Amino acid sequence: MLSRILIANRGEIALRIIRACRELGVETVAVYSEADRHASYVRLADEAVCIGPPDCNQSYLNVPRIISAAEITNVDAIHPGYGFLAENTNFAEICHDCGITFIGPPVKAMRLLGDKVEARKLAQKAKVPVVPGSEGVIGDEKEAMKLANKIGYPIIIKAVAGGGGRGMRVVHNDISLRAALSAARSEAEIAFGESSVYLEKFIVEPRHVEVQVMADNEGNAVHFYERDCSIQRRHQKMIEESPCPLLDEKDRDRLADAAIRLIREADYVNAATVEFLLDKDRKFYFIEVNTRIQVEHPVTEMVTGHDLVKWQIRIAGGEPMKLRQKDIKHHGVAIECRINAEDPANNFAPSPGPITEYIAPGGLGVRIDTHAHQGWTITPHYDSLLAKIIVHQKTRPEAIATMRRALQEFSIQPIKTTIPACLDILSHNLFVKGKVDTGFVERNF
Ligand code: ADP
Repeated sequence: MLSRILIANRGEIALRIIRACRELGVETVAVYSEADRHASYVRLADEAVCIGPPDCNQSYLNVPRIISAAEITNVDAIHPGYGFLAENTNFAEICHDCGITFIGPPVKAMRLLGDKVEARKLAQKAKVPVVPGSEGVIGDEKEAMKLANKIGYPIIIKAVAGGGGRGMRVVHNDISLRAALSAARSEAEIAFGESSVYLEKFIVEPRHVEVQVMADNEGNAVHFYERDCSIQRRHQKMIEESPCPLLDEKDRDRLADAAIRLIREADYVNAATVEFLLDKDRKFYFIEVNTRIQVEHPVTEMVTGHDLVKWQIRIAGGEPMKLRQKDIKHHGVAIECRINAEDPANNFAPSPGPITEYIAPGGLGVRIDTHAHQGWTITPHYDSLLAKIIVHQKTRPEAIATMRRALQEFSIQPIKTTIPACLDILSHNLFVKGKVDTGFVERNF
């Protein structure tokens, strides 16, 4: 069992990991930039180390500084959370070389799945349906055009090293292909330092459905059912729920089986999310694997009753997962709203600054995951996620009602937040009916 863990992250996820550690009796070390000196997660950790100035290249993304902090504080493992270094194979490898357990998958599986083209190939090998597209990286424009005509427009150009909804371009015809290809390449080069792109058929009005999986070192792999993350803005998730309102038990099993086949093929260990697109005929296509804990993991925790972060820590410590698939049940409906410090009335512009009033919702079925509180100042240096509200109820209409009243109770002054946008979505009759797809937000708001 691990006894002391450094958390190479900040904000709500750092706090989330500290909570799991405390309950497991594991000591924690927080790292923080100068902008986060007074953060609640820093206060709650057993020890805390300042790793540099606010700029994340000099702090949360700075491998030598984080490794030094881990060495000084004598931890036996590092939990990377999500974002920052969570999917950086180089970092995982360095942890390993320094004798520090990286709480995540083996480097080999991480590298394989982090390359979207390789992941597609692996999915095909595991007989998991993929979106029709290129066999590998796209070469020149001629090749792209030939393929685009073969699979039929619209197509989507995606970065091999992509993430966070960036580096993607939808193309509708030959004429716009050339410009889109070079734009996608340079965008990918800037965002990921790797300009390779590939091509997929653009699935029209799909749902985004993903399966939470977990595997231990002894070959036991289980799933924790699916999450529907179709409520997105610019390919970034805003609201997630479990279960997916569209799936029946048979579809659900087929999807989960496909996810398990894929992670077994990758010799995967620890937590992963296998993402799919579901078309109008409820046919599913694999798109990618995220090799870390996800922002939206709480909805799965609420419907299954399992603490996913604790499982990550136990598995990384070498414990076998005592769970079998038949032990994992799902109950009721959970919904999560991401509350960002952004102004929906002003094109979602960031809204940093001090919080002078913070009144959180509560009551039956309401969970808040946040590092924010009265007196905390939201810094402009990092992503704008301020809090996550997760509700759990017996039925979907009840969950929607609970979420609406929780959003109405939440007061974070004078910060502009995405609460009004979430309320608008939750009130829309198509959302209430569960009839949404990934283009719903852009079409309706
Ligand atoms: P990222 O790693 O940047 O998050 P993903 O491959 O997970 O990228 O895709 C993010 C979102 O982009 C999906 O949830 C979906 O909304 C959209 N998307 C990706 N691929 C396709 C596709 N082939 N057809 C339609 N939409 C897509």
